[in-house]
Amino acid sequence: MYRTEEPQVGRRWIVLSILVVGLIFFYCFWQMLDINRYSQPQHKIGAGVEYLVDPESVLTLDDIRLKSGLPWQTERTDLLSFGIQSDTYWFRIHLPQLSNLQFSLLELDYPLLDDLKIWLYTGDRQLGSYVLGDSLPFAARSLALENFVVPLQQTQDPLTAYVRVHTSGAIKMPLYVWNADSYLVYHGEHNLFTGGFFGLLAALALSNFFFFLTTRTLSFLVYGCYVFCLCLTLMTLNGIGYKYLWPDSIWLQAKSILLFAPATIFFALVFSRHLLPIKQHSLTMDWVVKALAALFLISIPLGLALPYTLMVKVFLVLTLVVVPFLCALGLWLCLRGVVIARLYTLGWITLLVSAVMVSLDNLNMFNLAIRTQYLLMLGASIEAVLLAMVLAINYDQQRRTLFEAQEQSLDRERQLREAQDQAQEELEYKVQERTLELEIALRELSETNRELEERNTMDALTGIRNRRYFDRKYQAEVRRSRREQSSLTVAMIDIDHFKQLNDTYGHLVGDECIRAVAQVLREQLRRPADDVCRFGGEEFAVLLPNTDIEGACALLESIREKLENMAIPTPAGEIKLTISIGVATAIIAFDANDMLLLEQADKALYGAKQAGRNQLCQYNELAEANQE
Ligand code: GH3
Ligand code: MG
Ligand code: MG
Repeated sequence: MYRTEEPQVGRRWIVLSILVVGLIFFYCFWQMLDINRYSQPQHKIGAGVEYLVDPESVLTLDDIRLKSGLPWQTERTDLLSFGIQSDTYWFRIHLPQLSNLQFSLLELDYPLLDDLKIWLYTGDRQLGSYVLGDSLPFAARSLALENFVVPLQQTQDPLTAYVRVHTSGAIKMPLYVWNADSYLVYHGEHNLFTGGFFGLLAALALSNFFFFLTTRTLSFLVYGCYVFCLCLTLMTLNGIGYKYLWPDSIWLQAKSILLFAPATIFFALVFSRHLLPIKQHSLTMDWVVKALAALFLISIPLGLALPYTLMVKVFLVLTLVVVPFLCALGLWLCLRGVVIARLYTLGWITLLVSAVMVSLDNLNMFNLAIRTQYLLMLGASIEAVLLAMVLAINYDQQRRTLFEAQEQSLDRERQLREAQDQAQEELEYKVQERTLELEIALRELSETNRELEERNTMDALTGIRNRRYFDRKYQAEVRRSRREQSSLTVAMIDIDHFKQLNDTYGHLVGDECIRAVAQVLREQLRRPADDVCRFGGEEFAVLLPNTDIEGACALLESIREKLENMAIPTPAGEIKLTISIGVATAIIAFDANDMLLLEQADKALYGAKQAGRNQLCQYNELAEANQE
């Protein structure tokens, strides 16, 4: 989702920031030109100045003033710059034409000279002598200014200034003479500008330190250190560091450039490595950046130990390599499609261009309307602001990437959970389905079982219930009679002389007769509770619950009569038969034997047979007792 939006966001940022920075740039430039117009130095001293090199540092002021035949040379341009030198330089500056213009200050706009002595003469009369240079504590200066400034005495006669310079760095003599009033105005505006500039850098450094503290992102810390060191370097170059930060430390003032400038470049390299995806594009390039960073880091302690002149040269050479290298690195990554590299490159190119312009101006190949230090400060501030923007964009992109990754993993988790839920649902559905199938199968099974059971209790020949069924039904009815204290009638029915019938007509005809008797018995029992079973052979048992002896006898008698009068159709012709019935009725007593009623019925049947068959006989206790 963000992948398609990201470059657009980057482009919008870049356009916006270029616009803002461009506006700031032009506004500041215009303002500076203004400062220059209204308060520019009243006079720059350069061409016509005489200078003398004294390699052994043996000449005295008297030698310089009085000795003739010394190899004085005359400067042809306004540029009084002699490169990195350890020789002593003498300057003779005639200021005759200035006296009527009320110039009252001489300014040397290069605060890094170690030893500087200035003598003012009119004819043979010494008007003043000044010992300056940053090898003296700051408090020793007669005017507490970051640049070297000496007052010029008001005189009608031509003034001559003798200047002796000895330093371990570069010898540069940007000299100006000022009217005190305009210097006052200029200095105020200069202070405002430099104050604003260092304020901006300090705010950038501070805010990035805070960003680091809150986000724990190392790039912010490295960038903060870079801006901090850049700030200190430029403060050293401007003399502000010595004036405000270490006015009592001559040692630090002597070493500050070699301390802060390599640290600045070191942090710039580390920052570039943190910010740009160099490693993803080339391991060699990454290695080069690392090596350069290490070189600058090592040069810091070396700068403290080895001679200043040597180390300044080494540092300048390294810097001349590194700044174009960083520009090239940025361009290379731009070409490879790294969006943030565009602003990064723009930042370094701004610094490089301003540095080149300053150098060209210093070499007098190009003349700037403003003091070069402003241009450098402006270049550095634009670069710092652009790098801060790059950092902000990069941080935002990283945050987005992280957010996107989190979203994706959340999405995956959600999908997984959904899949799990679906699987769970499917499983539950399947289980339900199986359970249902199982229930159906069980029901079918129990149905079959019931059928089987039913079939088990049926008599195959007659289609009525069999002995097994009778036994259970008899038990149940006995218990019911006992519980409800209702009368129960049991009748045993036996076909008379059946053996004989079998013998006469055969077993198949006998079977036909048994079936016919069963049919009649089933038809005649009309109450739902009544039941008839084939007890065995040609014997049947009848259960009549809730039936008293009279009712039972009437019913059974009618059955006997019906059979007596019935001709059973068989393959052997119509057959007539009779039955004997033994019947017993009782309300089963609680302590009575379950089988008693059945036995009594059986005994009654025996009685009926004894009495001549084809009749019904009731069980009679008294009769039985008599018999016994
Ligand atoms: P009575 O009962 O009148 O004293 O004489 P009976 O001839 O019927 O005597 P009994 O009860 O002893 O004889 C039963 C005979 O019934 C024996 C057997 O041959 C016959 N029998 C038993 N079961 C069957 C059967 O399923 N089919 C046929 N055809 N005959 C059977
Ligand atoms: Mg029998
Ligand atoms: Mg019989």
